[in-house]
Amino acid sequence: MTDLTSLTLAEARDRLKSRAVSSLEISKAHLEAIERAKMLNAFVAMTADKALEMAEASDVRLARGEGGPLEGLPIGVKDLYATRGVHTQACSHILNDFKPPYESTVTANLWRDGAVMLGKLNMDEFAMGSSNETSCYGPVASPWAPPNWSRDRARAALSSGKRGLLTPGGSSGGSASAVAARLCLAATASDTGGSIRQPAAFTGIVGIKPTYGRCSRYGMVAFASSLDQAGPLARTVRDAAIMLRSMAGPDARDSTCSPAPVPDYEAAVGRSVKGMKIGVPKEYRLEGMNSEIEALWTRGAEWLRAAGASVVEVSLPHTPYALPAYYIVAPAEASSNLARYDGVRYGLREPAADIVELYEKTRAKGFGAEVRRRLMIGTYVLSAGYYDAYYVRAQKIRTLIKRDFERAFADGVDAILTPATPSAAFGIGEKGSENPVEMYLNDVFTVTVNMAGLPGLVAPAGLSSEGLPLGLQLIGRPFDEETLFALGETIEQAAGRTTLPEPWWE
Ligand code: GLN
Repeated sequence: MTDLTSLTLAEARDRLKSRAVSSLEISKAHLEAIERAKMLNAFVAMTADKALEMAEASDVRLARGEGGPLEGLPIGVKDLYATRGVHTQACSHILNDFKPPYESTVTANLWRDGAVMLGKLNMDEFAMGSSNETSCYGPVASPWAPPNWSRDRARAALSSGKRGLLTPGGSSGGSASAVAARLCLAATASDTGGSIRQPAAFTGIVGIKPTYGRCSRYGMVAFASSLDQAGPLARTVRDAAIMLRSMAGPDARDSTCSPAPVPDYEAAVGRSVKGMKIGVPKEYRLEGMNSEIEALWTRGAEWLRAAGASVVEVSLPHTPYALPAYYIVAPAEASSNLARYDGVRYGLREPAADIVELYEKTRAKGFGAEVRRRLMIGTYVLSAGYYDAYYVRAQKIRTLIKRDFERAFADGVDAILTPATPSAAFGIGEKGSENPVEMYLNDVFTVTVNMAGLPGLVAPAGLSSEGLPLGLQLIGRPFDEETLFALGETIEQAAGRTTLPEPWWE
């Protein structure tokens, strides 16, 4: 029998439809794989009973020739999505034991279309981070092994706080690790400044952050509301397209959610890219840039040219200001959004003599160091004396960044090609402990896309000299995810399907 966890989502779907395999079989195979992969720490809560129930119900529908586009397919859900009656903690102590009485729209859409829920996935606390190290459940290990790795070294690393292993990126580290390690066919993720795209690049899988407003934010734990977007992580471009079609769509419960109907994204996969014009922004060529990343970027442009697209240089002059502006806007919105965690309505409550002490004690204990840092920055930049100097200026920069992209698209560029990350995955404990800015610099190629509200897709584009995955990013016009799927598949095909890591974690 073929290994059911090695199928792509599309292959699994087709086998379920032809009834060559049952959802119960596929779902059980994944539950067992998760059990064997405990040391990756990708899942923070399992919903095995629910999965089996959902799989059985799917099998009944499939037997009748019914069922939705995701019928019977087991997936994982980032701990950021409210799932009714099920662990939802955004991997923060402040949401200890919280079980929402309602379901997020994105997950409700997935269940409506027949998907099976395996469990909740690890993430950086409140999605703040680039390595999954800020989670209250501890770091996630990437299924990709560090260079000169051996099984014994990996085991030793695991028994000593995972030092020596690689991060899967963040904040959607659990989702990326689980998808790359074949613990689920695909997963939900979220992206405020790169949290779908950077983990996709680090683990050799596909991720898309759709246009702001393409997916409903209802029931997603809020980080920075004007930047947050839902999106999928999957092993192929086709699988990501299938997932996004189900996740996206209008929602009266989110006023920023687009009423536009969702196109059949899968139909865009395999579409010719002949005649398309691809922009390569010169400002993304950073001084002292990693030469492997630069070479990969050039190779990516050559692949698209070989497929019939033309490649032109474009200028996005305000790019250098994007990262500092993001690290003002995102903490500002976070400080406002996270004000609701007061010890009264949700999760953790520390005993105290009066209400002020209750707030102070609960918030001091419930939030981790990175979240506290962001709340301090956010409160500071929004405070009366500094509002104009920081927040208002950051908003102005945001407008200029958006205009840069608008100009490039107005000049006839169909999509923009950039690196996804400044390097391949780094090690757990390697970055940011002395200076948090070291970690923030990881987002240099991704935050511009959130600031401008555009769609961005990362596809695996090859391996580094050390054998680690590298990704390329494609940025599109608002609501033109289809072009990204067509171009993404071209890169995926040209790069050749990246081999998946050997299961040393079992
Ligand atoms: N790494 C970025 C941050 O820490 C982005 C996180 C995200 O996209 N959720 O803010």
